[in-house]
Amino acid sequence: MPTFSDLLKQVKNEIREITPAETDRTRQKNPKLVLIDVREPEEWQSGVVPGAKTIARGFLELEIEEEVPDKEREIVCYCAGGIRSALAAKALQGLGYKKVSSMIGGFNGWKNAGLPIENRKILSQDQMSRYARHLTLPEVGEEGQLKLLQSKILLIGAGGLGCPTAIYLAAAGVGTLGIVDFDQVDLTNLQRQILHTEADVGRPKTDSARRAIAGINSQVRVIPHAVKISRDNVMEILKEYDIVVNGCDNFPTRYLLNDACVFTKRPMVDGSIFRFEGQVTIYSPGKGPCYRCLYPEPPPPDMAPSCAEGGVLGVLPGIIGSIQAVEAIKLVLGKGEPLIGRLLMYDALSQKFREMKVRRDPACPVCGDKPTITDLIDYEWFCSTAHKS
Ligand SMILES: [Zn+2]
Repeated sequence: MPTFSDLLKQVKNEIREITPAETDRTRQKNPKLVLIDVREPEEWQSGVVPGAKTIARGFLELEIEEEVPDKEREIVCYCAGGIRSALAAKALQGLGYKKVSSMIGGFNGWKNAGLPIENRKILSQDQMSRYARHLTLPEVGEEGQLKLLQSKILLIGAGGLGCPTAIYLAAAGVGTLGIVDFDQVDLTNLQRQILHTEADVGRPKTDSARRAIAGINSQVRVIPHAVKISRDNVMEILKEYDIVVNGCDNFPTRYLLNDACVFTKRPMVDGSIFRFEGQVTIYSPGKGPCYRCLYPEPPPPDMAPSCAEGGVLGVLPGIIGSIQAVEAIKLVLGKGEPLIGRLLMYDALSQKFREMKVRRDPACPVCGDKPTITDLIDYEWFCSTAHKS
């Protein structure tokens, strides 16, 4: 019976081996060369050869045809020391790959030769378990989950809409969640604002939001902004985030956020609710309309009663806020068809969704072809006087 060392000797006779320096020269001559790191995921944490594809040895035969469909392509496999990659190269030859080599000395040899390495973030074992149901989705996978973990999303309001959005974004592994809310929890909030509890009544909403989120996913960095967002602080706050999710239902704030997002080119996932009806859309500068394209003027205050005056079904923000969370996640992943240029309307009483196309207005004062508003204005004044003109 042959021993493992006999087998290895035989395999090495049947494959081609090249040194790290030779690998480096070859890939500079041939940019199409594919480097495959066949080590285990935890070994990738110490770095990889720049540009290498990472496919653990156990998955190599399963995944190679999808990753490298062309069997004529030049491939170099490497592991830590050159043994697993020799066996990997032999397996690839068996699958019909014609130009496969194994790198002598593996990643350690590469490092010892003083060649550059690339640090690549990978998921920890704990994250692998926590996000297992995301990892099996081709649209998310490890790459998408890492994008979520690195994403920074700003929630405007920890109220009816902000609560479900925060919960789902935290559970999904969004790395940084900023929460702007200067309010305290009130008993009337508990009918729909599911981050807060009876014990939180009278306390700042950002405090209860932070505690509730930590209970769901302690890896999320929550940044409380217990301030009223205004023209004086909006730019400073926004610059720390990639995406804004608006759950604040007052007109001065919505116009303020819209203009600030246009100026800083941040997408805003906007939601609103009233009684049994809700709406969601994304205002994405350069890709679709902004809020002002749809509503150049705020409505007269008496035409736009608030939820406090008009009432709202408690579960309605749960639906609209969850849709906002879906859209924010899609933006992070760059997958699917975002609600850009589309206004989604929901009616809970008839249990129906409708959709309306919305377009950028070339005459829009903020995002139009010749913008007249190029700096933040006084939004309280704008909203209190616009209807009188
Ligand atoms: Zn516009």
